[in-house]
Amino acid sequence: MKKVVLLIMDGLGDGPTDNGSLAKAKTPNIDNMKKEHGVCGGMITLGKGITPHSDNAHLVLFGYPLNRYYVGRGTYEALGAGIRMKPGDIAFRANFATVKDNIVIDRRAGRIKTEIAHKIAQHIKHINIEGVDITFTPTIEHRGVVLLRGKGLSHRITGTDPHKINVRWARCKPLNKKAKKTAEIINKYMVWVHQQLEKVKTQRKLKPNFLLLRGAGYYKKVPGIKERFGIRAVAVAGGALYKGVARFVGMDTPDIKGATGDKHTDLNAKFNSAYNYLRTNDLVFLHIKATDSFSHDKDCKGKQKFIEKVDKHILKLTKRADYIMITGDHSTPCTLGEHSADPVPFMLWGKGIDPDNVRFNDVDALKGALKTFYGKEVMKSIVKLIKNE
Ligand SMILES: [Zn+2]
Repeated sequence: MKKVVLLIMDGLGDGPTDNGSLAKAKTPNIDNMKKEHGVCGGMITLGKGITPHSDNAHLVLFGYPLNRYYVGRGTYEALGAGIRMKPGDIAFRANFATVKDNIVIDRRAGRIKTEIAHKIAQHIKHINIEGVDITFTPTIEHRGVVLLRGKGLSHRITGTDPHKINVRWARCKPLNKKAKKTAEIINKYMVWVHQQLEKVKTQRKLKPNFLLLRGAGYYKKVPGIKERFGIRAVAVAGGALYKGVARFVGMDTPDIKGATGDKHTDLNAKFNSAYNYLRTNDLVFLHIKATDSFSHDKDCKGKQKFIEKVDKHILKLTKRADYIMITGDHSTPCTLGEHSADPVPFMLWGKGIDPDNVRFNDVDALKGALKTFYGKEVMKSIVKLIKNE
């Protein structure tokens, strides 16, 4: 059995430009790997013209087709937050927000700090509405998870986040008849949340007095990676969503000290962990979030510098891995500030591989030996490489 690393720099691609972050970044180590044993390609994660989210993109990269395995973002967030979901449960991703007379003033309550958010969360920890237990679990900054547990619930409901400010918060609507009761319970819950949070005294200008919910998800147990592909896999990730998707597909998801899932993450700790886990695993999924965060902030320089940081750590992995795949889950052009459907530059390094003659960047990679291919091919290739087929 061979050892493979799947290194995902989230939102790596910058679209069809020869002036993207990957082209500009000084990456002597990746360049050398490419020159000696690297081939490139362009990955279309979901399909031509389809802009991926991070959750569905990762699910597809892990070899889990969306029509059978996509259960809604809330579920992956909940699993990532360490919540043990059961079949029948419904989970939402939630944001602390500020409303005034039901009008949304700020969708993140001024990006409230984690510590404060956790204190305020005590006031809305749990309630039972019409036999349904509803719990709120805060995660990082303004983010959290709302879990519903009870009989006859449905995830076929809309969220309460209007996705813009200066409009009324959206009432939860059922998408079919069966979901009517769940939607009513959510709307009652929203009123209770607001009443509870209004009572909390705070000096903040933007009072965290509401929760905006989105991405209703349900839970089902699915066959894990080991069962489906016969390989042992571990996720080295800081962000809850990525851990959640990895947990859903049965990867080990250890907590790594210093891996924060943001720009301040400890890359040394992450690469060391990846190196250590290669000893006992066939596949190490190593996730880097900051490249996507810089892109959303339209900070091209920051993205470039972070790729350079990753380059400083990568050689360590070549000492234990037989193959390393370097790519993103989707493109997030830093000039655009949001995800796009552009192919993601992809590089495969391996000791026995004859290099192609293209460079690993947004434009040239697509002309490499791997050409353009779909995200669903990634896990198939990983399994073949591991089993030496
Ligand atoms: Zn992503």
